[in-house]
Amino acid sequence: MGFGKINPATEEEHVTREELKARLIRPIARELADGAQDRVVAGGLEKLIQNLGQPFPEVGRVLAGYRQMDVEARKAQLKKALELLGDRVVQNPSQPTEPRQATPGSRSPVPEALSFDTPIEALNLGPGGKKKLAELGIRVVRDLLHYYPRRYEDRRTLQGVREVEDGAKATLVGKVLSRELVKTPKKGIQLVQVRFMDGWGWKFTGIWFNQPWVLKQMPEGASMVLSGRVQKRGGNVSLMVEYFEDEGGESLSTGRIVPVYPSREGIGQAFLRRAAWRALEAFQAIPDPLAHLPQSLLPLDKALRQVHFPDSEEKLEQALYRLKFDEFLLLELKVMLQSGGSALLGRMFRVSPEMVERFRSILPFKLTGAQERVLSEILADMQSERQMARLVQGDVGSGKTAVAAAALYVAAQNGAQGALMAPTEILAKQHFENLTRYLYPLGVSLDLLVGSMSASEKRSVQERLKSGQTQVVVGTHALIQDGVEFCDLGLAVIDEEHRFGVLQRRRLLGQRPDVLVMSATPIPRSLALTMYGDLEVSQIDELPPGRTPIKTKILTQKTRTQAYAFARQEIKKGHQVFVVTPMIEEGESEATAELAAATRLREELEVLLPEVRIDLLHGKMKVEEKDAVMERFKQGAFDLLVSTTVIEVGVDIPQATLMIIENAERFGLAQLHQLRGRVGRGGLESYCILIAGETSKRTMERLRVIEESTDGFYIAEQDLRLRGPGELRGLRQSGMPDLRLGDLASDQEIIEQSRALAKAILEADPYLDQPEHALLKRELQARAEAIGFREVI
Ligand code: ADP
Ligand code: MG
Repeated sequence: MGFGKINPATEEEHVTREELKARLIRPIARELADGAQDRVVAGGLEKLIQNLGQPFPEVGRVLAGYRQMDVEARKAQLKKALELLGDRVVQNPSQPTEPRQATPGSRSPVPEALSFDTPIEALNLGPGGKKKLAELGIRVVRDLLHYYPRRYEDRRTLQGVREVEDGAKATLVGKVLSRELVKTPKKGIQLVQVRFMDGWGWKFTGIWFNQPWVLKQMPEGASMVLSGRVQKRGGNVSLMVEYFEDEGGESLSTGRIVPVYPSREGIGQAFLRRAAWRALEAFQAIPDPLAHLPQSLLPLDKALRQVHFPDSEEKLEQALYRLKFDEFLLLELKVMLQSGGSALLGRMFRVSPEMVERFRSILPFKLTGAQERVLSEILADMQSERQMARLVQGDVGSGKTAVAAAALYVAAQNGAQGALMAPTEILAKQHFENLTRYLYPLGVSLDLLVGSMSASEKRSVQERLKSGQTQVVVGTHALIQDGVEFCDLGLAVIDEEHRFGVLQRRRLLGQRPDVLVMSATPIPRSLALTMYGDLEVSQIDELPPGRTPIKTKILTQKTRTQAYAFARQEIKKGHQVFVVTPMIEEGESEATAELAAATRLREELEVLLPEVRIDLLHGKMKVEEKDAVMERFKQGAFDLLVSTTVIEVGVDIPQATLMIIENAERFGLAQLHQLRGRVGRGGLESYCILIAGETSKRTMERLRVIEESTDGFYIAEQDLRLRGPGELRGLRQSGMPDLRLGDLASDQEIIEQSRALAKAILEADPYLDQPEHALLKRELQARAEAIGFREVI
């Protein structure tokens, strides 16, 4: 392959005066359009003129001292300069900047009445156009307008080679003069070197490492846009190219902030820009689905234009804000509509200060500030005519049950029945004991209903429920089985909601009681609001005083046995130990693999700790078997429990002081935090040891979050940040919203605002039937699949 090397002395250096003029006009015109703020040119307009304006001294004189002028004077001088340069049109600054050259390709007519649902064929993008766009999932105009750039390149002022600085990033436009492939003999590196000439006639070299295919894309005479890092050696400028594309004589690709779209091979950026431009151009004014636009929002028309072809960073930011807002709004609307939303009426409870005070008086402790706040949120819901639908989140031991007890007491005082449903029998029993402690002294009659009770026991509970004799019932799924009838169910409390299926919950909720869901899975508020759009969220983000945080330490495979030496010491003190192991094999079914791993670990520990009594809990056990193991552990029948991840959330083992987690990196952070919450339930100093199966930087960074913090909400935020929302436990299957722009980790403010608007809209128009919401409804339908929803309750 003979890529002839051209001697620099013979290179053609011919740049006409006209070309130079044209290159000067663009930044000056943009400066004028930008309101003469002197921010279009890096380093100031005057600097540019000094560098490039030498052939036109009269222009230099007109713009001398530009920075010191006031805005009006600047505008006047800019216009003069443009006239001197012979610009035919002095642009009106208020006009949007149409590309100066006509978009290439024929400007075939576009139908007049364009809508979001118009197929993209109508845009006449050429024969291959439709096929290319279809490959990217773009079929109608809506798809195209919402096909957002992946990033942007700032090419408002393309620098000349003379202006770039050594070591800085720069974007240059240049014509290909020559190209060659150089192999360094020592390290075997392949260098592509291409000589370019920029618009002002200066030369530079573009350099690519080990990308020989680039050569083919650099035909002589082609005009390329190149971004990368600058290297200056004497008078020679090289660019270590990181990104490049064919300018294609295309004005959409230079002289502005240029969009770079996600794409695939064979679908060029220039084509995508032209497609977006044509769609925007074809729309006179893009209609806004929001009939009453909140002040903080850009109209959709502007937002869509700016997201594709931003005038400035600020405009782009506003556009993104608006488009994210819409994503979240549609998400909230959809979830609210699916669930029957806020329109459902429930029972209005009467709450008196004395009632609450009486409850407080029987507590052996003072409610924390967070408990008081959440309780008042719950009581406000109970007093309103709407059906309560509230999620109470809080770490294990933060006092959720105590707050739920207060709500159940209020319900009972109002003559209504309350139910608390737990996912397992042992949890139900534990709740029953706790609620009895709180409520029995207040004269509330309680019952327990679980599957293992005898038929006659069950029957008598059912009768008491039906007659209204039982005021509060605690139970498992047994509560929603046939034969269970309430006299007047007013409040349903559901513990650990993720264990219950939608349908199961529906059955309990058939009577439309007020609903309180308690969850110890700390989900960041932003995620909770979108996942459970119809649930209000309360957080108990403070632990009762006097809890000593669980000491947490990371060990590696090498130091792993230290964990078990420590376990031996704890057990000698009469304490108990959990050892949790995740699934470690692939290919087998999950439960089988877990069982194998747990069994192996148990055998290992029996050798390592011969004097210790060990038992096993795993996912293949029946619920009753699991409950029995937990019950025996609670009673101290053995010292160390090896368990797979099925270990029951919420069961108190007061003597358990050590949690060892094998291959801890395989768990989500929120899950690790929950597992750690299994110990330290009895006021004894407690520990958690995380054994890292591998020690990559990422793993250690994640595990350190657990080591350093015991704040469940902080940990959940970090989990979201480090892993992305889809990876949170259990969320992937449930259809995590596939937000294109929205970011759950950082868009909390937008989420809260859009949620408030969604509620207001549905309050005024519960089914979006009013004409002013027709467009919104259409968008909701059209984008439902694109966003992806989860059904709640
Ligand atoms: P959760 O349901 O969030 O796991 P619980 O309501 O079961 O928490 O409370 C855990 C333990 O803390 C219980 O023993 C309870 O009696 C105690 N507790 C709850 N609230 C307080 C408080 N404000 N001060 C002291 N102890 C409390
Ligand atoms: Mg609890």
